[in-house]
Amino acid sequence: MRIRRNTSGLFVIIAAMKYYVWTEGCQMNVADSQRVSSGLENLGYSATAKPEDASVIVLNTCVVRQSAENKAIGRLSSLAPLKKANPNLVINLMGCLVGFRAPDKLRERFPFVDVFSPPSDPGPLLSYLTQDEVRSRLKDETRLRNAWMDEDLPLPAVEHGKLVSAHIPIVLGCSHACTYCIIPYRRGAEQSRPAEDILKEARSLVRQGVREITLLGQIVDRYGLDDPSLPRLSGLLEQLNEIEGLERIRFLTSHPAYMTDDLLKAVAALDKVCPHIEVPIQAGDDEVLVNMKRGYTVEQYRRLVEKLRRIIPGVSIATDIIVGFPGETAEQFQHTYDLLADLKLDVAHLARYSPREGTLSARHMPDDVPAEEKMHRFRLLEELQEKIVAEIHSRYLGQTVPVLFEEKVKSRWRGRTGTNKLVFLESDADLRGQVLPVQITWTGPWSMQSRFPVEDGAGK
Ligand code: SAH
Repeated sequence: MRIRRNTSGLFVIIAAMKYYVWTEGCQMNVADSQRVSSGLENLGYSATAKPEDASVIVLNTCVVRQSAENKAIGRLSSLAPLKKANPNLVINLMGCLVGFRAPDKLRERFPFVDVFSPPSDPGPLLSYLTQDEVRSRLKDETRLRNAWMDEDLPLPAVEHGKLVSAHIPIVLGCSHACTYCIIPYRRGAEQSRPAEDILKEARSLVRQGVREITLLGQIVDRYGLDDPSLPRLSGLLEQLNEIEGLERIRFLTSHPAYMTDDLLKAVAALDKVCPHIEVPIQAGDDEVLVNMKRGYTVEQYRRLVEKLRRIIPGVSIATDIIVGFPGETAEQFQHTYDLLADLKLDVAHLARYSPREGTLSARHMPDDVPAEEKMHRFRLLEELQEKIVAEIHSRYLGQTVPVLFEEKVKSRWRGRTGTNKLVFLESDADLRGQVLPVQITWTGPWSMQSRFPVEDGAGK
């Protein structure tokens, strides 16, 4: 039981209802889970790290590859005994395992799930929990403090005043239909969110201590293209750049075809927008790109990289690659390898092709690259990229760069450069949320170490 002052100033006694959220998958899911947590806390629930102490359990799931789906199913199945022991427990299955269509098959297979929620939608759970019948079953004496998503978007208590870097989804869903990708089937059609909502959320997050905001979308650079009343991404960035107290703005993931000059110039011109671009190529061979229905050629991607480097000085570029796409020959793979060796990008997120139910590739293209060969190709790119990144990072050695510090891990503060490099700094001071110039003293492929710069002539 807890005592809390309600909005009219009266003290009310409320039962300590606990919730537990498990999140898997992309940044979008992390952001979605945060919303669910905020919504639950708005109803008076508080977080617990132990599912067995919770009255409400949320599983926010990913199915982008078979391995993620297996993990989600495993986790869900492991909840069956908890539900059996406590039939009042509310289990909410959310995210891409559910998708945006009626989850009839899942309902049959997992009858112990109380609520199914599509990705990015805390609504079904929150309306379920506020039904009188459910409230009395849960002996829920809490009061609604204010309506969901009212004025402020409060961060969950554990993150309030602590979270330095937050995500805001700005484009929901995706309408691109790359042949391998299940996301459009689970997240539905592309839909840009109103700019006012995004700005309101950003301001609210900044009031709660957030200093860096990452805008999210499957194809984030298509923001506004589905709705002529909205600004383009460059315009949205301009408006966000005005927010006082906000230090940094990032956005991901971009599609090469929509990276306009206008956007690149905005990134270069706006002081808060970081010189870091996530723009997947997926394969370095034109035929494979056609089979993937990506909508650009290797040459166009190369030119984009050149242009990014020209317009945004010091830009860091991250890409995604899928190895072992159906029909990918050793020679076609070699093209990808050679391209990566040549472009020397800052990050390559690597994945082995995994056929996903319902996608074009799963229906029409046999998954003919053997598992060992996929692994072999994966390892080759991994080794190559490790060398490239170590080399890029070594150029930071001795330089003084601004770092936004996020949290302390043991004795070291963890932060990132504008180019999204992980930097550690040994310090007893409270650096949370501060952007400070530090001198890089050591670099490796995954992180860097730093110290406060020693001023010239200071002698100490
Ligand atoms: N919308 C983004 C990200 C999609 S999911 C984009 O357009 O790139 C993140 C990454 O997972 C993708 O970039 C891709 O590299 C990988 N991925 C997606 N579907 C996959 C599949 N069926 N098998 C293996 N990797 C996949």
